[in-house]
Amino acid sequence: MSSLLIVATSNAHKIKEISQIIGSEFRCIGMRELGQIPELIECGDTFEANATSKVEQLNRWLEQNSEPRAILKSHSEILLLADDSGLEVDALSGAPGVRSARFAATEESTGNASDQANNEKLLTLLEDTPDEKRTARFRCVLALLAYPTESAAQLFSGSCEGRIASDCQGSGGFGYDPLFYPVGHSLSFAQIGSETKNKISHRAQALTQLKNYLATEGGAS
Ligand code: IMP
Repeated sequence: MSSLLIVATSNAHKIKEISQIIGSEFRCIGMRELGQIPELIECGDTFEANATSKVEQLNRWLEQNSEPRAILKSHSEILLLADDSGLEVDALSGAPGVRSARFAATEESTGNASDQANNEKLLTLLEDTPDEKRTARFRCVLALLAYPTESAAQLFSGSCEGRIASDCQGSGGFGYDPLFYPVGHSLSFAQIGSETKNKISHRAQALTQLKNYLATEGGAS
């Protein structure tokens, strides 16, 4: 019986990256593989608050629903993980930040905007910003709970510095990847390939901390 890592998201790109980075020691699945979990609510002002809230919402849902019992029983260890991440642009005082997924959403609309709309909004806001002032970083905070749990979530974070280009380049990745050039690279995250992105990204750094924690203190038993 192996370890099951359930990721509190319906974002297939995040699940894929987490699965690739965390490696074969864990079976990694998205929460929707367990059943009809409602959309997780994100109303915090920080990545830390949102990641914690999302993993706690998933934990509560599991406690209250019997549907996924079979899959839970077939693994010796169940870990719940939430990823809250986003882009901080210095010329925009850290925006879009925790609102990265819904940056271009209108007042009336609920939910996230499309990647294309978010990227277009970012380019418009940065239209008059010169190259040297287009510095930015991706940030990722992971919240981890062992299920079932009585304890508080463990947090891990990572960031990746870079700059925002003046047009989209590349078709890999997701979100703001076509506009983001990591420091020391002349290709955008959407051009660089998943192998390189998964070594240097904000998510890779946070997951490396998490893996070290499990290997030492938290004990993937
Ligand atoms: P969350 O689901 O609230 O954490 O929203 C994360 C949003 O931040 C995504 O929808 C993307 O817009 C953006 N984002 C986070 N990580 C990445 C990444 O690795 N590449 C590109 N965009 C990202």
